[in-house]
Amino acid sequence: MRCPGCQQEMDSLTLPATLGQTVTIDMCAGCRAFWFDPFEELHLTPDSTLRLFQLMAGAAASAAAFPAASWCPHCHARLLLTHDRQRNTRFAYWRCDHGHGRFMPFAEFLREKDFIRAPTPEQIDELRKSVKMVRCSSCGAPIDLVHDAVCTHCGAPLSIVDVKRLAELAAKDHRQPPPPKQLTPPPVLLVHDSEPPTLLDLGLQVLTEWLSDLL
Ligand SMILES: [Zn+2]
Ligand SMILES: [Zn+2]
Ligand SMILES: [Zn+2]
Repeated sequence: MRCPGCQQEMDSLTLPATLGQTVTIDMCAGCRAFWFDPFEELHLTPDSTLRLFQLMAGAAASAAAFPAASWCPHCHARLLLTHDRQRNTRFAYWRCDHGHGRFMPFAEFLREKDFIRAPTPEQIDELRKSVKMVRCSSCGAPIDLVHDAVCTHCGAPLSIVDVKRLAELAAKDHRQPPPPKQLTPPPVLLVHDSEPPTLLDLGLQVLTEWLSDLL
């Protein structure tokens, strides 16, 4: 199946689902996004959800790209950009108007599942010690952490991966791993590209090791 965002072939993953079933999810590592057929993601077990995190953490971080337009891999109709919210968190995805499913960037998946939250002032201070500049997880614009706590380009607030929620999810499958303590990876792990990382990238780097112990 071709990725609605970049038209490359997607990877399909078969994961355990609730009630002893399995579910096959299509994923594009380049776009860091999933295609979900109707109801697929509702049946993911906690373990399968963590597995999706692990795969996304291992995927190369391209620019935070929310595609400008995309087409349904089943019927090729243009997908509709859809804004939704759960509790106080807004998220967005692309959906097929003929009910074939939806295309969801990983960052939006995290928002939908309530795995993203605003950092506390202490956490922002901690971040500033190792990173001065990050990219907005929503629009990709640079954010100067020293002065700003919101993206001056699109207005999105800074958001980090909620490690505590992830640890709770892991505990649902009767495992109690200690969650990672640090918010940012050791400086040596920071990738010094020309592009600054997103806070999502940083969070995923921290989580990679934890998840590989767990799964
Ligand atoms: Zn893609
Ligand atoms: Zn369709
Ligand atoms: Zn932005």
